[in-house]
Order: sequence, then structure tokens, then C-alpha cells
Amino acid sequence: MADYPALHMAIDGERVSGGGRRTLAVVNPATGDTLGELPLADAADLDRALDAAQRGFRRWRDSTPQERAAVLSGAARLMAERADELARVASLEQGKPFAEARIECMMNVGLFNFYAGECQRLYGRTLVRPVGFRSTVTYEPVGPVAAFSPWNFPLGNPGRKLGAPIAAGCSVIMKSAEETPASALGVLQCLYDAGLPTDVAQAVFGVPDEVSRHLLGSPIIRKLSFTGSTAIGKHLAKLAADDCKRTTMELGGHGPVLVFDDVDVDKVLETVVPQKYRNAGQVCVSPTRYMIQDGVFDRFLQGFVERAKAVKVGDGLADGTQMGPMANPRRPDAMERLIGDAVGHGATLHTGGQRIGNRGFFYAPSVLSDVPVESQIMNEEPFGPVAILNRFGAEEAMVEEANRLPYGLAAYAWTADAHRQRRMGRALEAGMVGINTAMIGGADSPFGGVKWSGHGAEDGPEGVQACLVTKAVHEG
Ligand code: NAD
Repeated sequence: MADYPALHMAIDGERVSGGGRRTLAVVNPATGDTLGELPLADAADLDRALDAAQRGFRRWRDSTPQERAAVLSGAARLMAERADELARVASLEQGKPFAEARIECMMNVGLFNFYAGECQRLYGRTLVRPVGFRSTVTYEPVGPVAAFSPWNFPLGNPGRKLGAPIAAGCSVIMKSAEETPASALGVLQCLYDAGLPTDVAQAVFGVPDEVSRHLLGSPIIRKLSFTGSTAIGKHLAKLAADDCKRTTMELGGHGPVLVFDDVDVDKVLETVVPQKYRNAGQVCVSPTRYMIQDGVFDRFLQGFVERAKAVKVGDGLADGTQMGPMANPRRPDAMERLIGDAVGHGATLHTGGQRIGNRGFFYAPSVLSDVPVESQIMNEEPFGPVAILNRFGAEEAMVEEANRLPYGLAAYAWTADAHRQRRMGRALEAGMVGINTAMIGGADSPFGGVKWSGHGAEDGPEGVQACLVTKAVHEG
């Protein structure tokens, strides 16, 4: 296809493709058409990447903070210049509206600029000791990182996976999702063009289980950074544990939204409905279980359904599209299963609940209410354009339901009561809590979860710290 880049892996400075390797078709989720053929790594490719990562680490750990900052801010500048093209490719291979992809690109710009500053502020400390003695605490890069990123934020996830190790002085081998390779390669290219040595960051693709077993089986890799489902995260954490590798795990969620009856219903809906259908609900911090107090339930439900019906679904590159297709055929299948099961358990389906058209992976914005707690969708991350609206009375019952699941990524509460706002900030078991807002991230703010949603954080100073190890040196 003319306007889709040729696909390759980036191993030790070479663009690797062909050579009898297995390939995988990359598909446009809006049409089902093939965009390109992606080469998949074999064991020799991965070994070559590991050797280069070792070399790249030895070089980059001794770079000055100013060199790292220059690369990160240079890449940020290039990403801003290339934002339209990067967003177009991301929309083409993942399906999301162009405007959303462009915002994602600009978030990377913000993150790289933040890390450019942060890597110059990695201070240690000197301990108080008797005369003649000295003890210092310093932070050193952990070593080569294996980073696996998913398809839902084709630009943002690779930005996170690359930015933190590079800021910390590590090398990184990234395997981003095979569904969205060109976006990840576009981000990596900005780093190369800004002067990053090619052995410091590499991109491989492959059969995920083969790649992760190979890389995590190597003593060269000292850290795993994974974003994806809890099931795969647990499996990878076990592989990493065999070699005591450091881990950052950003896993699934099942975001509770507590709506109290003191809110301005229309104002809340203006925020939470677009938030629900952003990226067709394929967002780890997506709001999923809405707990709505009696006093506003009927109005909230009616307003939600009206707005859901009005969401304009279409090709991400078409003007006016508010929601694109789902990213791959597994997602509409999952929607059918989860919504069918909920209705089977007695839930009411108010809108959606079906695929749209017979091309691509479109699924209608859906709203369920009165969903029994035994339904699969009340327990399994939906990861799609479906809202679950349930009626509640007391605050205690809402908090109990919010914390019922083993997930703890994002939680939201809407209330005008200042005391309750503070109570919610403490009571909700999540790594990120939004009170009267859907905005729960930022370049300077840690992004991560608790419980089955993982551990460690990306972004913020914490993102760089996660790629550093602590060393104490005692001199007598
Ligand atoms: P999946 O769990 O198979 O894959 C998720 C990601 O992990 C993909 O990028 C995939 O390439 C990668 N992956 C899978 N197996 C791997 C392995 N053995 N080693 C290394 N990487 C591996 O699921 P999926 O069908 O792509 O997505 C389904 C579920 O994943 C969703 O329902 C959602 O719960 C979760 N998910 C979460 C996020 C997130 O941001 N936390 C993103 C995408 C998907």
C-alpha cells in the first residue's frame, strides 16, 4: 500500500526484513484490508538484538545526562513536526480517530520533554559519617530492558516503553504489538534521527510467547516492562522471577465510577460519555462500572443512552468520526460474548449490543443497566465500548462494589461534597483516582496500578526511577 510504510525490525542499526523470515499481515481494522507484511524475529535475530543491547547499555550508561536530554528533547521536536503523519499511520493500523491519535502523539512529546529534564535531576545523597569516612547513595541504570507494549495506544505505549529507559541510561529491546508496528517504528525513528545510537533502542516483532521467553530467558536483560492483560502479565512476571529481573507491570483494570446524587448530571455526562467511548473503550483506565445513586439514576441513564446513540462511528481517518472500529477481531467477539452473557443474566441492553456493517471490526456504543454481579462483564475487563450502569443507595455499598474486584488501576468519583471528595480519594483502591475529572495522567504524574492491575509506575519521576537501581558506597 502506497501510503503505509514498509515494515521492518530495527536490530543493531539494520532494518531487518525478508530473508525467508515468517511474516504476519498487518490489517486495517476499519476495512479488514492488509496494510503490509511484518517480518517476525527468529532466535538468531533475538540473539543479535541481545548482543547489541549489551553493547548499547555499556555505551549509554556512561552517557552524560545532557546527551540523554538532547536526544529526548530532539526526538520530541521531531515527533511534533511529524505528528500528522504519525497520527495518520496510527489511525490506519489501530482504527482510532485521527484527532485522538494526534493527541497521543503530543502526549509523547510532553513525556519526552519531561524526561529530558528529569534525567538531569537524578541526584544521590551523602550520608553523615565520622571524619575520614564517606558514604554515598547513587542511582544507576538497571541494565538492558525488555519492553512489551500493546496495540491500544500505538504511539503512546512505545513512547513510554522507550522514554524511561533512555532517560535512565539503559538500553531497551522493544516488542510492540504486531497489530501496530509502523507507529512504534515511527516513534523509534524520531529517537534515531535525534542522535540515539542504534544499539541503545531496538524494535523486534514476533510470536509474542517466543520473543518473551527468549528475551526473558537471557541474563543480559535486567528488567521487564509490560503493558497488557493481567493474565499475560502474571505469566511474564513468573518468567522474569526466574532470573530476579526487575519488573514494571501495567495490567488490566475495571474502572469504577461513583456518581453521587449531588452532581449536575448533564455536566458529568458531558465528560464521562466521551471518556467511555474514547478509543472504542480499549483503554486500561476506561470507566466501566458506573455506580449511580438513586436520586440521579434515571436521568443519568437516559442522558447516557441518548449521548451513546449520537456517537458518530466510522473510519478513524474520516471527518467527524468520534469512535473508530475495534483494533482487532478478538474485541468484537469479546463484546458479543460479554454483552450476551450479561443479558442472559437479566441485564437490560439500552443501545448497541451489535456489530456495525460487514467490513472491519466495528461495534456499536453500548449501554447496559441493572447488570447482576455474577455476569462475566462485572468481573472481567470489558475493554470495549460498553458502559455498565447500576443503581445504588448508600455510599458504603458503592465503595464496597468499587473495591470488590482484584483490579485497582483507575477509579473515578463525581460529587459536589468536599468531605466526600476527600473520603473517596482515600477509600478507592486504585493507583489513580479522578475526583470530578476524567484526567488522571500527565507527563509528571505516575501512571500505574495496584493489586492485579500491576505494580510500578510509568511517567513522572517514578517512571525514570523504575529503570534505576540503588547503590550505596561506603569509604573508610
Ligand atoms: P493479550 O493479553 O494476548 O495481549 C495484550 C498484549 O500483550 C499484546 O500487545 C500482545 O502482543 C502482548 N502479549 C501477549 N502474549 C504475550 C507474551 N507471551 N509475551 C509478550 N507479550 C505478549 O490480549 P489481546 O487480545 O491483545 O488484548 C486482550 C486483553 O488485553 C484486553 O481485554 C485487555 O484486558 C488487555 N489489554 C490491556 C492493555 C492495557 O493497556 N493494559 C492494552 C491492550 C490489551
